[in-house]
Amino acid sequence: MTTTLAPPSITDLKTQWLGMLNLIEPKLQRSQFITWFKDTALLGNEEGTLVVGLPLPMFLNWHMEHYQAMLLQIAQEMDPGIRQVVYKVDGGLKDNRERTMDLLQHFPEPKRRKLPGKQEVKLAEGIVSKILNPRYALDNFVVGSDNRLAHAACQSVATNPGGKYNPLFLYGGVGLGKTHLLQGTGNAILKGMPTSAVVYTTSEDFTNQVIEAIQHQKMDTFRRRYRQVDVLIIDDVQFLANKERTQEEFFHTFNALYEDRKQVIISADRPPQELQLEDRLISRFEKGMIADVAPPDYETRLAILVEKAAEYQMFLDRTVLQFIAEHATKNVRELEGILMQAVAMYELEQRMPTIKTIAEIMRKLSKDPHAAEEAPVGFEIPQKRLPTFQDIMEAVSRYYSVSVQDMISSSRVRDILIPRQIAMHIGRKYLRMSTVRLGEVFGDRDHTTVMNACNKIEERMQGDPPLLREIRAIEQELGLV
Ligand code: ADP
Ligand code: MG
Repeated sequence: MTTTLAPPSITDLKTQWLGMLNLIEPKLQRSQFITWFKDTALLGNEEGTLVVGLPLPMFLNWHMEHYQAMLLQIAQEMDPGIRQVVYKVDGGLKDNRERTMDLLQHFPEPKRRKLPGKQEVKLAEGIVSKILNPRYALDNFVVGSDNRLAHAACQSVATNPGGKYNPLFLYGGVGLGKTHLLQGTGNAILKGMPTSAVVYTTSEDFTNQVIEAIQHQKMDTFRRRYRQVDVLIIDDVQFLANKERTQEEFFHTFNALYEDRKQVIISADRPPQELQLEDRLISRFEKGMIADVAPPDYETRLAILVEKAAEYQMFLDRTVLQFIAEHATKNVRELEGILMQAVAMYELEQRMPTIKTIAEIMRKLSKDPHAAEEAPVGFEIPQKRLPTFQDIMEAVSRYYSVSVQDMISSSRVRDILIPRQIAMHIGRKYLRMSTVRLGEVFGDRDHTTVMNACNKIEERMQGDPPLLREIRAIEQELGLV
């Protein structure tokens, strides 16, 4: 039992907390550790209860879900008398160096180890490899039912390159994580075998190298170089279509490496048999392991957002993440794009993203002709306490910055017309208000006018995903969805 007569001093608590942090740090990814333990402190340790201080309310859920049990275990290792860990949110902890630790000072970023016999030695002989992006790893790739096989295959290749999954062929639409998996596999192989020559290239780069070699009559050198490679990763091979000469070179390189039991990893936007490539190449691809990467489902999208938000050190409310996951359904790049905008908004304007601001961001992104198109999503009505009609009016009025007065007025200005129609639509849909009743509350309008208004907005919603999202945002704020 911990029986302290006088309560421990701030210095005692800081020392104790630092001791715990030392045990916590190796258990977490660095970004997670810095994100969630920055500005935390031990506030008390009495009668078997540790009180851990958190700087912001939004830390609370995350800590309770992820770290509370671990903290208790660590605390008990240090002092078996500890029986529970509780949290207290204390805004005064933020950037308060008297009470909290400077994590970056106590836990400086580990110096990158210089890899022995580094791969550049081999690459210096002339193999052009796009640098593998260290951000892409197999263990920060979120696995869901739609990419599980692809991820598992990559992991197997990473531990046993040139083994049974050779070649490994990944296919799937844009922005679904193929490049991430390819580079993550390359990074993992390099980590295990730092001296191996891992080459990542895109089919466009490869084509350019072939062209250059032809122009300078250096084809022999080109071939020799590629045949020293231990792991060849070629991204987006669909772009080799119609490039006969490059396909031929690739075919020979492939065979040479394959016979030497070197690993080849390939990605494309479609399965081998649908590629517009030479049959002999396709049949080589088909000999290996083929895995598809499909669009993630809702749960995976949400898990990816949680992971990315932590990577960006961004504390977003879970309902906001859920909102993004529900609406950005097309691919992961789109999810990331929205999150990045939210991060920028937070950093530049010090505005905490809410469902409303996220809906605005998505509206802006969807106006961008390059942004992904989005399919409307269906509604689900959970069994909850319904808002009153007054609540609906106020929510719509806040959202569009128009007054309730204006909404029930007879004005036909578009800026007012649409919010009015939305309020009617929500009232009818969720409160099952009759058109007659709606007519009454909207300044004695005729029920057919109300009916027309509802039909108009419902029709408009069909072809206007941004509008749908705005309505959805209002419904979310009202707790209707
Ligand atoms: P592709 O090559 O298939 O077009 P990318 O690999 O470039 O797609 O992925 C787009 C972005 O989405 C990258 O930033 C990547 O890190 C991220 N991403 C995709 N899938 C996942 C996942 N399952 N977990 C984590 N990040 C992912
Ligand atoms: Mg890619």
